[in-house]
Amino acid sequence: KQLASQIAAGEVVERPASVVKELLENAVDAGGTHVLCEIRNAGKVLIRVRDNGSGIVKEDLPLALAPHATSKISSVEDLAAITTLGFRGEALASIASVSKLVLTSKTADEENAYSVSVEGPEQNPTVKPAAHPTGTTVDVGELFFNTPARRRFLKSDRTEFARIKDIFTRIALAHPDVGFEFISDSKTVTRVSPAKGEGIDLRRTTTLIGAEFGVQGMRVICEDPNLRIEGMILPPPREEEALSEKIYIFLNGRPLADKVVTHALKEGFFEVLGKTLPIRCVLYMEIDPAKVDVNVHPRKDEVRFHETTLIHDLIVDSIVYALRKNGI
Ligand code: ADP
Ligand code: MG
Repeated sequence: KQLASQIAAGEVVERPASVVKELLENAVDAGGTHVLCEIRNAGKVLIRVRDNGSGIVKEDLPLALAPHATSKISSVEDLAAITTLGFRGEALASIASVSKLVLTSKTADEENAYSVSVEGPEQNPTVKPAAHPTGTTVDVGELFFNTPARRRFLKSDRTEFARIKDIFTRIALAHPDVGFEFISDSKTVTRVSPAKGEGIDLRRTTTLIGAEFGVQGMRVICEDPNLRIEGMILPPPREEEALSEKIYIFLNGRPLADKVVTHALKEGFFEVLGKTLPIRCVLYMEIDPAKVDVNVHPRKDEVRFHETTLIHDLIVDSIVYALRKNGI
């Protein structure tokens, strides 16, 4: 059983960023307004995620750490529909089997908070009283303390940090109605409130993908019956700046890594600039779900547009328009 849970853990928990992803998704699912992610040493020493959401009732705390414990699937049909996406109800159990995990929570109806802690696969957690406002905190300490091979496989702090930051950014962009905060080694890296106003909140979005550049994002819009886009692009970097590309695309609310969209973005920039530079942008696209096939590859966030050329050209046009409108 011990081995089985650690093998399962390998599937879900490859590195600190995978832990951050699962914990942030749980925090968002809990329906609060604020999510805090705090790490030490690129998540190798500590990953802490706190939310002010629903909380978990005392009796359910040990269950949340048990394999196959999910409160999110209630029928066999649900399960069949969802297994292609991975290991539902496995994340916390898997993370617990390769770390020193403390889960602390309080619901609005309960007077007291409670916590459970486990170290590795020896999982007979006892529930203890704790101090915590309504919501949940998960502390994942010393990730892979009992699986040295996996720990050695981790990259430098710099690389692991970059992966965590990318996951944090992606999830914060996917949930504009939630405030997010990211602290690394006691320093605030990013902090955003829930989005304000109609459409894309340029300030919030710029803070998430471009604050370090000290630039103002430009709005991208498309209002075609076949495609709606709300987006933001950062001004192209000066040539001497060696910046990495940051492209975040969402289709009907879900993250997307798509060659057609990426190609269209590059073409739009090329048409105006006459050269290729790293692109930094966020696009929220809405397309009639009947005009997209989503299940091309369930793990890779790929899709197939029925009218590929049309979608491609609409994206190019909106990028060109946005750049020109801003005098670029
Ligand atoms: P899943 O998210 O697939 O259900 P997890 O292992 O990630 O599985 O979580 C197990 C269960 O623990 C969830 O179904 C949920 O009931 C509970 N849980 C985990 N994190 C939180 C949280 N931050 N707030 C409230 N409940 C949570
Ligand atoms: Mg989960």
